[in-house]
Amino acid sequence: MMTVLVTGGMGYIGSHTCLRLLEAGYGVVSVDNLCNSSPLCLERVQAITGKTLRSYIGDVRDETLLRRIFTENDIQCVIHFAGLKAVGESVSKPWAYYDNNLNSTLSLTKVMGEVGVKRIIFSSSATVYTAGNPMPLKEDSQTGGCTNPYGWTKYMTEQILSDIAYADPAWSVTLLRYFNPIGAHESGQIGEDPQGIPNNLMPFITQVAIGRRDRLRIFGNDYPTPDGTCIRDYIHVMDLAQGHVAAVRYTMDNTGTEVFNLGTGRGSSVLEMVNAFMSATGVDIPYEIVGRRPGDIAVCYADPGKSQRVLGWTAQRTLTDMCRDSWNWQQKNPMGFGR
Ligand code: NAD
Ligand code: UDP
Repeated sequence: MMTVLVTGGMGYIGSHTCLRLLEAGYGVVSVDNLCNSSPLCLERVQAITGKTLRSYIGDVRDETLLRRIFTENDIQCVIHFAGLKAVGESVSKPWAYYDNNLNSTLSLTKVMGEVGVKRIIFSSSATVYTAGNPMPLKEDSQTGGCTNPYGWTKYMTEQILSDIAYADPAWSVTLLRYFNPIGAHESGQIGEDPQGIPNNLMPFITQVAIGRRDRLRIFGNDYPTPDGTCIRDYIHVMDLAQGHVAAVRYTMDNTGTEVFNLGTGRGSSVLEMVNAFMSATGVDIPYEIVGRRPGDIAVCYADPGKSQRVLGWTAQRTLTDMCRDSWNWQQKNPMGFGR
């Protein structure tokens, strides 16, 4: 059995990916420092799948721990999710973001090189694309000119990993640029569990629906879009998880660096999302229009053609599925994992 090390395996995307990897027959080892997650989630992943995985609690910047993990397990490939991800917080705490996101990658690849495991899949983001690119975004669209430290950490990590693969042709580096993951596993047992006031649209909507927030604030309706609100490419987290299973196969079979968009290719506006949620769930979402949020661009969606051609992967689930599953998770876990 092939074994994958998942850093940040207790996080939102990591936990769903661990679940799909177990279902697909892979061995899974997780390392997570719990800075933004609960150990409950991997217990639930094991209960859902009826399979076990090995979980280490600790920091990816801890090279001693990493050496122990690679010694105790026969790992062939790494998926590197661990990192800090709040755009606004990265502006006020840049050092913490550069330290966590860059040093975790440097420690991880240092130890991977030592032990000869040279296959890595990295969680990048559509945020690495320069504003002003024509839509849809293709993997060779312009990158850089990021508007916040979080985005720069993704941009810089892509560069670091590409340089490592260039210097040593035994490396296989797969950079996955996610668009907007939402939704949850169909069981409603695992899902996104933001701390404090959610930054992202869907968790905010579900918290309004469950009564934890009084209304949604829509950041601007004067954008150059059909209804004036911003357009994004929302993708079901289980489709994203499946994209990682495809990426593991690809990364095992190839060397060098390759980059893939993981999106649906369809854009939806904020108002369309509110309406999709209301019709999928029957729950009313009161909202008000407020000013624009700094740094938001009007429209962002993927060209997923390369992922389809090369990885053989396409997103299958609809907006209705995404809204229904987000709501199912929120209803079954009104306070998330209760951290
Ligand atoms: P998340 O915060 O739910 O998961 C990240 C996990 O990493 C958490 O469980 C956290 O405890 C852990 N972690 C953080 N720093 C660590 C460290 N130094 N050592 C060990 N564990 C550490 O976030 P997510 O939404 O699951 O995102 C996963 C990855 O995907 C991140 O790298 C994120 O930047 C990237 N990404 C996310 C989105 C999104 O919208 N959710 C979009 C694009 C890219
Ligand atoms: N948004 C909003 N109200 C919120 C959260 C988000 O109107 O409380 C909007 C935001 O301005 C953007 C879209 O919803 O146009 C998606 O935002 P999110 O933060 O989820 O994703 P990102 O902007 O990072 O793509």
